[in-house]
Amino acid sequence: MSDFAQVIGQNAEHLTDLDRAIGDGDHGSNMTRGTSKTAALAEAEEFDNSAAYLKKVGMTLVSNVGGASGPLFGTFFLRLGGALGDAEDIDAVTFGKALHAGVGGVLARGKAEVGDKTMFDAWSPALEAYDAAVTDGGDLQAALQAAVDGAKQGRDATVDLVARKGRASYLGERSKGHQDPGATSTVLLLESALRLWPNQRILP
Ligand SMILES: [Mg+2]
Repeated sequence: MSDFAQVIGQNAEHLTDLDRAIGDGDHGSNMTRGTSKTAALAEAEEFDNSAAYLKKVGMTLVSNVGGASGPLFGTFFLRLGGALGDAEDIDAVTFGKALHAGVGGVLARGKAEVGDKTMFDAWSPALEAYDAAVTDGGDLQAALQAAVDGAKQGRDATVDLVARKGRASYLGERSKGHQDPGATSTVLLLESALRLWPNQRILP
């Protein structure tokens, strides 16, 4: 979470610019506020297991990130933590199930479909690529790398889409030609996971 907070901070202006083009221009500041709070969690208290930590992360995002992104990213972490439970040795298969649960939470909240120009356009190909890597016998590192690659393709594909969900949908055809901010921060989250996690524990 501290890596994610750092990267969000570095990209805050970019995220805000993207949101200004097709939304209300607050994605960078919203995400900065929420992720800096999640990064501080580990110093403030101790957690018994991954589930407890990730649930707190989710609740912190829900209550500190404005707009749609707070509930969406927050629900992702709540469901991710719920699925991991008190699992200790988390391999590609275990994490894949949790990832599906997390993205299921994003879907339950946002009710988006592929092609709506939302963060789900990054999550969906990320999951498909993750699953394909696991089927090919890939370990957690390989599966997360595949997920990042899939998410980037999905993010890039949002540029040509007309938004059908969220504030950007008010613009209709004029939303075309702009990259979706939520799909962009989704890539940043998966990149953080790939960069830091495979050799570490989830607990801080
Ligand atoms: Mg916004």
